[in-house]
Amino acid sequence: MNIILLGPPGAGKGTQAQRLVKHRNMVQLSTGDMLREARTSGTEMGKVVAAVMDRGDLVTDEIVIGLIRERLAAGTTDGGYIFDGFPRTLAQADALGALLEELGESLDRVVEMQVDDEALVARITARSTCGNCGEVYNDNTKPIPADGVCTSCGEAAEFKRRADDNEESLKTRLLAYYKQTSPLIGYYHAKGTLVSINGLAAMEEVATSMDQALDG
Ligand code: AMP
Repeated sequence: MNIILLGPPGAGKGTQAQRLVKHRNMVQLSTGDMLREARTSGTEMGKVVAAVMDRGDLVTDEIVIGLIRERLAAGTTDGGYIFDGFPRTLAQADALGALLEELGESLDRVVEMQVDDEALVARITARSTCGNCGEVYNDNTKPIPADGVCTSCGEAAEFKRRADDNEESLKTRLLAYYKQTSPLIGYYHAKGTLVSINGLAAMEEVATSMDQALDG
């Protein structure tokens, strides 16, 4: 089963994707993670996208479609793919449809995670991730363990905050979501693959809604 997690920054896409990876043997394809990796490893592309990402704008369709094409060409997976943070524009959505078709794969569900803007600001400015495994923490709801050992990978890790997790970038990221990404809700509704869930509930409740969306 191949799915897309759709929602504004901070909606909980990454957290739910991690859970699906653990429980359903799915493979998470996060273009945000791929771009951050490119920056860390100092590739030419990483240098090109750094300023764009820090501002909160979208990087070009060409770059992100190229990243997804590369990953999909590397082979399919039994558990299926979770597209997290991709597609973010109609052009990306069309490209993903074409890539999956070439591989004889289908897009089975698009899960829209609905949240309100106030909750997003609170979540984003409180979040951090394990530098080792990427487990997501939140100062209020899931604080970093006092002993500094990640509850997911068991490593004494460095916990990182993202450079673009500040109110200024968030404004730009939200605007990009409403202008460029939210039209995908109508697009996938028309294709009959859209399911919307409440992303504001407690993490376990969201997980239950997610399971219902995928299995229903
Ligand atoms: P994310 O981790 O999904 O919040 O992405 C972080 C940043 O990476 C975004 O604010 C964009 O600058 C860039 N990015 C990630 N995915 C995409 C995409 N599909 N299209 C364009 N830009 C993206």
